[in-house]
This record gives sequence, C-alpha cells and structure tokens, in this order.
Amino acid sequence: MSASAESSARPLDDRQICRCLRRWFRLRGRDLPWRRTRDPYAILVSEFMLQQTQVATVAPYYERWLARFPDFTALDGAKESDVLHAWQGLGYYARARNLHAAARFVRENFGGQLPPATASIARLPGVGRYTAGAIASFAFDLPEPIVEANIGRVIARLTNWRAPIDSSTGQAHLWQTATALLPRKGAREHNSALMDLGALVCVPRRPRCGQCPLRQFCHAVQPELLPIKRKRPRTIQLFEPHTFAQRRNRVLLEQSSDRWRGMWILPRLARSPKEEPLLKIDFPFTHHRVTLAVFASRKAKRPNDKRRWFSRQALASLPLPSPHRRALALLLSVAEPGHTLLPN
Ligand code: SF4
Repeated sequence: MSASAESSARPLDDRQICRCLRRWFRLRGRDLPWRRTRDPYAILVSEFMLQQTQVATVAPYYERWLARFPDFTALDGAKESDVLHAWQGLGYYARARNLHAAARFVRENFGGQLPPATASIARLPGVGRYTAGAIASFAFDLPEPIVEANIGRVIARLTNWRAPIDSSTGQAHLWQTATALLPRKGAREHNSALMDLGALVCVPRRPRCGQCPLRQFCHAVQPELLPIKRKRPRTIQLFEPHTFAQRRNRVLLEQSSDRWRGMWILPRLARSPKEEPLLKIDFPFTHHRVTLAVFASRKAKRPNDKRRWFSRQALASLPLPSPHRRALALLLSVAEPGHTLLPN
C-alpha cells in the first residue's frame, strides 16, 4: 500500500496492519445484530437499511423486518404496500422497493437461495460494488474488499490522501488500497474491523489517534482535515402545498406516483393558497430542503383513482412517508384533542 506524503510513520505493511487491526477488533469491535448471523438474506436486509441510515436507527427496524419477512420467499410474496409500511420511518423508499425486487430476482434466478458468488450477488437490483462486497464477505467470507464512509475515511488518513475521495481518482485509490490491505483469509473479520475502526476511533472530526491500533502506520498529517470531498451542490429550497380534508372521521389521501411512489400522502395542491397554512414541516430530501405546508380544505373533495378516503383506524396500517405521517398526527390531535397519535 502506498502513502501520498513523506512522513515519519512506518511504511505501510499490509500484513502487520491486518494483524494489529484484527487484535484490536477482537477486543473492541461492535456487537451488531447482523453480525450474529451468516444468513445472506438477513445481511442483505441490514446492508440495504444501513445505506443512508445510522446503525442505532436501523437495529429495531432490522429485528422487526426479519420477524415479518424472515426470508427471500416471505418478502417476495408480500404486497408492495406492506413492504413500504414495514420500511416506514427509514426513508429513501427506493431501498425498500429494491429489496422487494431483489427477493423476486433471487426466486426467479437462484431458486430462492443467494449463491456464494460476488458476480451473482452484484446482479441484484439496488446492489452496487460496496453492497455486493459486503454481502460476499459478511455472509460467505469471500475475499472481497469494501469501501464505505468509515473505511474511506480510515484509508484516506492512513495514506494521507489529500485529494477528493469522491472523485474517480479518489475512489480508485480507496478501492485499490482496500484491495491491497485485504488478507487472503478472514475478509469478514477484516472488513468489519476496518469499518469499526472508522466508526469508533478514526471518527470524522476528532480522530482518537491516541487509541488507534494503526497509529504507527498512519501517514496522516492533519487527520481532522481528511478526507477531502468535492463541494456539495447548493441546498435548494422547495415549498410544497398540500391540503387536509376530513369528513365523517375520515381523511382524504392521495397515492404518490413520484418521490414516494406507492405511499399515501396528503393531497397535493397545484398552487399555494393565499391564507396561512395549518402547519408547516421542514424536511431534507437529497440536496433539497422541503417545506411541507398543509392548508385547510374548503371544498368537498371527491375521491378519484389516486385519492381515497381512509378512516383514522386504517391510517395506522397505511404506508405514509414520515413528514406526512407527522403532519397527519398533529392535525388529527388538534382536530380531536386527546386523540391517540398515529403509531410510529
Ligand atoms: S485514528 Fe488517527 S492514527 Fe488512526 S488511522 Fe485515523 S488518523 Fe490515523
């Protein structure tokens, strides 16, 4: 492995790094629910959930998901609305749809069992280079490198890489270094260890170099300034008006066909009314900051092929994106003080 700057650290010796890392991991590594299994389905579920979502948030969802859809066959046989409902609260629903599609793909192409071959795993919908390597190494212990945010940060610092890691050159450097570091045996433990080092010691703002098992090999000069990333696109503000219509204890909802395809949201308004909204909720979406503004409905609304009336009881089992779920809970609690808020 090469470092990008002169330094007094020892040359990067891949085998020694692996040994130090392994020793540290056996003492300090995290005990995560998805590390207690070798079931490729369970590991696939955890990897999909962990894309864009923190470990602490994922853990309860992971347990509930496996109780509800314990294997590829169960997930393949589920209705999309049930899959989206079970995913509710994790956001980025494309992951849930891909997971559902992956279950179908495994049934149609592999007879319901994921084969221990990275090329086959990489054919699943929603599975990129990182996820294929993660499933291959965590489920089957295949010698595959992985690079995600934690590992990328560790490698950028170890090698004092002072160019953007999200450029094609930066990505090539991270993957090449991860490949060079990979031991011939024990990829599962090695990849988990590198990840945990980034999550627990080589943390973003203030790396704990004094506790680091790789300190003697590290070439970072100002580790707190690494990794370098390209400038993010400017955050765009969006204002989205919706309406709240209630009739005889029922609420009118609309099935989304774009951002939250298949989920139920408060009906959209073509333009914003002049009056003040009943409430506003801000939420992030990719590089947007969205204001969901909900206005009182004045006219009687008719259901159509996209809009339907739902009883309050039915809301609990509907897939609703979090901002709309929050808005409905608030509106219904105001409409009827003491009314139980929608369950999470
Ligand atoms: S914690 Fe410090 S010594 Fe360890 S890899 Fe990160 S920057 Fe280097």
